[in-house]
Amino acid sequence: MGRLVVVSNRVPVPDKKGTAPAGGLAVALQSALEARGGLWLGWSGQSCGEDAIGPLKTLKDGNIDYALTDLTEKDVEEYYHGFANRVLWPICHYRLDLAEYGRREMAGYFRVNRFFASRLLPLIEEDDLIWIHDYHLIPLAAELRRQGVKNRIGFFLHIPWPAPDVFLTMPVHEELLTSLTAYDVIGFQTVHDRENFADCLARQGLSRRLGESRFSVGERTFTAKPYPIGIETEAFAALARRAGETTLHRRMLQSLDGKSLIIGVDRLDYSKGLTQRIDAFETFLTRHPDNQRQVTLLQITPKSRSEVPEYEAMQRAVAEQAGRVNGALGTVDWVPIRYVNRSLRRPALAGLYRMAKLALVTPLRDGMNLVAKEYIAAQNEEDPGVLLLSRFAGAAAELKEAVLVNPYDVEGTADAMARSLAMPVEERRERWKGLMATLRKNDVFVWCDGFLTDLAGATLPRIRAA
Ligand code: UDP
Repeated sequence: MGRLVVVSNRVPVPDKKGTAPAGGLAVALQSALEARGGLWLGWSGQSCGEDAIGPLKTLKDGNIDYALTDLTEKDVEEYYHGFANRVLWPICHYRLDLAEYGRREMAGYFRVNRFFASRLLPLIEEDDLIWIHDYHLIPLAAELRRQGVKNRIGFFLHIPWPAPDVFLTMPVHEELLTSLTAYDVIGFQTVHDRENFADCLARQGLSRRLGESRFSVGERTFTAKPYPIGIETEAFAALARRAGETTLHRRMLQSLDGKSLIIGVDRLDYSKGLTQRIDAFETFLTRHPDNQRQVTLLQITPKSRSEVPEYEAMQRAVAEQAGRVNGALGTVDWVPIRYVNRSLRRPALAGLYRMAKLALVTPLRDGMNLVAKEYIAAQNEEDPGVLLLSRFAGAAAELKEAVLVNPYDVEGTADAMARSLAMPVEERRERWKGLMATLRKNDVFVWCDGFLTDLAGATLPRIRAA
């Protein structure tokens, strides 16, 4: 069995004590790397002036080698802030209005992918399986193939793949689509994403469909298949059970003063539907006034990508909106919304999820949404809370027993909040059991094994024989 080589934009490098930052994806990939022996390569997060890029920074931890490269300031601006975050992210989340195309950024994106390929090339061994992650690195396999790499290469897209009418608005759509056909296995979060991808290929006449998941382009065949990502279900559930003993837990319970906790946990991002959610919460409180003074919404929203102007503006808008609702409906001893712009550590989050009677996971579009899964895993089986989940999160394809809502329908979402809070315990248990069974069956290790099994079994690219 060959080594596993993982490439992603950022790398969860273990700290000096040897403990990696937690997070299901990192844990699953690290355990696969540890088992096979392997290498994880990505950007160091540091930028430097032109011509100042030094050698790779490397670190060995057990069976895993980490290799990090710096990028120039121009690279970071064009590849990362420019094309990845201002074009691909909005397009894949159906926000054509926010995409800012620029030839310089597009060229920078392809240039940095070529650069990643040149950094990886000297480290690759003949039998390595190469697994590339996410939208920052779509053209990497095509670059590696151009530089002579014949290994099996897989790609997993963590975010949605949009419908052709959206994707094809991108000036470089053809190049991106063609470069994807250099992979042996392409993984998506849902069937819907895979079908959107297949529709894009068909629309452009780029490949033939040989079967549900098999496609061919000229001499090459590749697999495109859904692999819905999971969490570390059992470990997260255990974390939540233990959280009851912490000081934070006690302080939080005390501060709730008998009110029911409703929780939202989302990076500050326009895809998460925060404005619509706060509108829906306000509508819920006004249409169902019995709930006033009985509930508190804790919205945990770490800031992200503050260098992109929309994120800066959104920060102001959401803070103002939460303040307005609190001003309009709050009383001297009740604040309806606690809005926190801080990132919490996973043990603290796990405890808060467990305490919450209701979780609001209402993105307008989301690749998967792991918060939805973590909330379920954290529940107490005797008295579980309810998950209110957007139909437009990838997780909705699996989590059928959640209360599914359309986040654009503010009144419908508000009524669903009321129904969820009033749901009898028998129904809550029944729904939770179904959801938990799904999370146990398809945890993050199953996701990782499933993808790697398909990649290891992939027919070697024909170009090898050429
Ligand atoms: N998260 C965290 N601390 C926070 C907020 C979020 O550790 O304060 C974690 C959360 O537990 C989850 C991840 O960040 O594992 C968010 O993943 P998700 O798929 O929900 O959304 P993304 O941010 O990737 O769009």
